[in-house]
Amino acid sequence: EQRNPGQPEFHQAVHEVLETLAPVLAARPEYTEAGLVERLCEPERQIVFRVPWQDDRGRVHVNRGFRVEFNSALGPYKGGLRFHSSVNLGVVKFLGFEQIFKNALTGLGIGGGKGGSDFDPHGRSDAEVMRFCQSFMTELHRHIGEHTDVPAGDIGVGGREIGFLFGQYRRITNRWEAGVLTGKGRGWGGSLIRPEATGYGNVLFTAAMLRERGEDLEGQTAVVSGSGNVAIHTVEKLLALGANPVTCSDSSGYVVDEKGIDVELLKQVKEVERGRIGTYAERRGASARFVPGGLVWEVPGDLALPSATQNELDENAAAVLIRNGVKAVSEGANMPTTPAAVQLFQQAGVAFGPGKAANAGGVAVSALEMAQNHARTSWPARRVEDELTHIMNDIHATCHETAERYGTPGDYVTGANIAGFERVADAMLAQGVI
Ligand code: NDP
Repeated sequence: EQRNPGQPEFHQAVHEVLETLAPVLAARPEYTEAGLVERLCEPERQIVFRVPWQDDRGRVHVNRGFRVEFNSALGPYKGGLRFHSSVNLGVVKFLGFEQIFKNALTGLGIGGGKGGSDFDPHGRSDAEVMRFCQSFMTELHRHIGEHTDVPAGDIGVGGREIGFLFGQYRRITNRWEAGVLTGKGRGWGGSLIRPEATGYGNVLFTAAMLRERGEDLEGQTAVVSGSGNVAIHTVEKLLALGANPVTCSDSSGYVVDEKGIDVELLKQVKEVERGRIGTYAERRGASARFVPGGLVWEVPGDLALPSATQNELDENAAAVLIRNGVKAVSEGANMPTTPAAVQLFQQAGVAFGPGKAANAGGVAVSALEMAQNHARTSWPARRVEDELTHIMNDIHATCHETAERYGTPGDYVTGANIAGFERVADAMLAQGVI
């Protein structure tokens, strides 16, 4: 903490991992001799830069841009860009640190990184977002490349932003280098199912946890937070597999819909119109109600899938969910559950899927997008979705098996941390002290 002052989210993410590694460090003393934990906690490179841009009235704004290239033992740095007013170096480092283990768990050749800016796209015109993205890429382009560092989307960065970023990269470098960014549009190098992959993958992971307990998704009521990319596709997949998602939210409050969320209406309001969640309730009619300022966790459900942001589910919310009989909690967002809440779920015997494992479907399909780009081909949606299903089932099996091997059966947090750590650590060990 002395070394990285003022970075509480980064400390939280590191603690959460280190706390579970004791058994593997005891079993493999060579990791400690090689200083692996210290090396893993220090990013290979951290880039901070000025992003000046002009709004539609000609006023100049200055934001701060970040790219933390955390670990490249397994492949090029890979991880999203987040545009949100809360972004700072500590937030980017927490996300980048998590990304190392998540990417390792996918079994694919990708290292860990993350980036973003404290730019807030809410209420900005398309032209303003474009100018911002162009300015951001004017610096970022020096640091990325298909074999070096491959950014993607995250909060506030979706298809529109990736398009503007890619356009500027192509213009500056005079190269058609599709593999430099993932999450591209389907007509120009994007993979089918990439927009859906994180949400779909989390539902598949939840289904795998339930199967382990002799249950399935059919008829289960689900409480989902957020209403962005991850939440929308979580809702969509839950519906497709016979579950009943009854909530979604944004920073203004939440909606509860007794008939189950109408995913087409949700997409219209949030993706097409970029509106607020209250509009969903206004249009939906009697079954839906908007609760301003509230948190979805007060709504009873069998499943909880936090899909908005970090630390959105604390121990008070966890206690309410447990009292209401929740069976499984699976993290679509990164670190949405506070450590105290995780502990309560585990003590209560609730199946808990940590984000590193449960939301890895997005980055996994990003790696499949890179594979398609390298081969200059495009796979049909069915093929990508089949691969995603295999990958999520493999991640589940790996976490489950690793937790058993280290004496904590059913503890997916320990299973994910140790399995991810072992893969990166073995690569670092083989590659020497660098
Ligand atoms: P989006 O920008 O598409 O959506 C984010 C949603 O979360 C919005 O509904 C937003 O509401 C809400 N939200 C964000 N910040 C806050 C906040 N501080 N307080 C309350 N609500 C908030 O992002 P994504 O859906 O892509 O990302 C959601 C989560 O999933 C993040 O934790 C991200 O890191 C994680 N994730 C995303 C992946 C991806 O492929 N996109 C991959 C793996 C993880 P509002 O619009 O009001 O701000």
